[in-house]
Amino acid sequence: MRHIAIIGSGPAGYYTAEAAQKKFGDDVHIDIVDRLPVPFGLIRFGVAPDHQAIKAVSERYEKVALSDTVRFVGNVSVGCDVSVSELQDHYDAVVLATGAPNDRKLDIPGGDLPGVVGSAAFVGWYNGHPDFADLNPMLGGRHVVIVGNGNVALDVARILAKTPAEFGGSDIVSHALNALETAGTEEVTILGRRGPHQIAMTPKELGELGHLERATVRVDKNDLPELGEDALLEPGMRKAVTHLREFAAIPEAFRADKMISINFNFFAAPTAIEGDGKVERIRIERMQLDDELRSEGTGETYDIACSMVISCIGYQTPPMDGVPYEHGRGRFANVNGRIVPGLYCVGWARRGPSGTIGTNRPDGVNIVELIAEDWAVSTGAKAKAGREGLDVLLHARGVDVVTFSDWKKIEQAETYRARDGAPREKFVRVEDMIAAQK
Ligand code: NAP
Repeated sequence: MRHIAIIGSGPAGYYTAEAAQKKFGDDVHIDIVDRLPVPFGLIRFGVAPDHQAIKAVSERYEKVALSDTVRFVGNVSVGCDVSVSELQDHYDAVVLATGAPNDRKLDIPGGDLPGVVGSAAFVGWYNGHPDFADLNPMLGGRHVVIVGNGNVALDVARILAKTPAEFGGSDIVSHALNALETAGTEEVTILGRRGPHQIAMTPKELGELGHLERATVRVDKNDLPELGEDALLEPGMRKAVTHLREFAAIPEAFRADKMISINFNFFAAPTAIEGDGKVERIRIERMQLDDELRSEGTGETYDIACSMVISCIGYQTPPMDGVPYEHGRGRFANVNGRIVPGLYCVGWARRGPSGTIGTNRPDGVNIVELIAEDWAVSTGAKAKAGREGLDVLLHARGVDVVTFSDWKKIEQAETYRARDGAPREKFVRVEDMIAAQK
């Protein structure tokens, strides 16, 4: 019997477990360890609460979780309750599927003023992540500025602009729903340091902005390249840019009954955030593209008065004791997912925060192939204790492990206390999650 420990129960973790099951069958035991008592990582805490169809992929992970060879080991923090090297002592392969939960820092003067938050914190807050339950974002002002031109910027803009009724059927947590209901937002400005042809947004997500009940979208047509240049774009990108063209063409009369304006400011890079003890304005430099389509400053600046800045400029994997790390790229140092034989990384922890949830599936398959290769040349290796070894350690340390059937009790309690029409009301405190399964 061989043993695999996967750290992180998000998409990368479960796709790796699924691939390992397929490859090795009953000859391998797989433990999926998560620091929280609830599984599915990004599906629960990253995917927007009004994108329930995407969250449905967790049913596939549940099938994996319920098989005899796979175990969920929740409420166990690797690096705190148990170290990576202890796991390596007990398992034949340790796979880090820890995602990229930390914000890439908006490194400009004033970037740490109250009122500046990163998307990890803001998304975590409206999705009920225990680390951000007390964020209490400053939503009282009329203008919120979002930095970044990716899909997370779109998620954040949409969540800020929706009416309470538009959250029907979502699992946005009540603390966020209530705060958004009384927010003063009238303008949301999305800053992109490059142009419409350089956005990192996908057409479906961009198109959604055009169907919001109380919001209108503004794009300055002078920022758009010549129409003919769209022909050079790949089809998805062309479709996304077509949405921007449609937004630019909305007649003013059609905007009259809209309470919120979502403005796309292209060629706009933040250079400083200012205010007396909190965000009051953001300084922006007009940018242009250089020959390699990078953004370069023009020296011309303007200010936007605002009370909150949400930076959506990407994420990083936090380093772990004893694991080689690539600081520049914010991920574990690896070659195709192998850190060293016996220790691997997968998903965003391997390649950085890019791609869709489905991108993690081939990632999982590749890692399992690497594990098989390494096992093929270590046939005489000493048998490892696997999950029994881990259980002894955790028991001695008084760790209160949450199993998958415990999670099902938490899930049941969350379903039971859901608002009308909502699939669940998440617990946002670890102690409440633990109490719900006792
Ligand atoms: P992303 O796609 O990498 O976009 C990051 C954006 O931030 C880019 O526009 C980038 O501009 C900009 N940026 C980076 N550093 C900056 C700086 N210092 N100043 C100003 N702008 C800066 O990241 P993301 O939006 O966090 O998304 C992460 C991944 O999750 C992506 O693969 C995304 O598609 C996926 N996702 C998907 C969905 C969905 O499918 N519904 C929803 C959410 C997230 P440059 O291009 O100029 O670098």
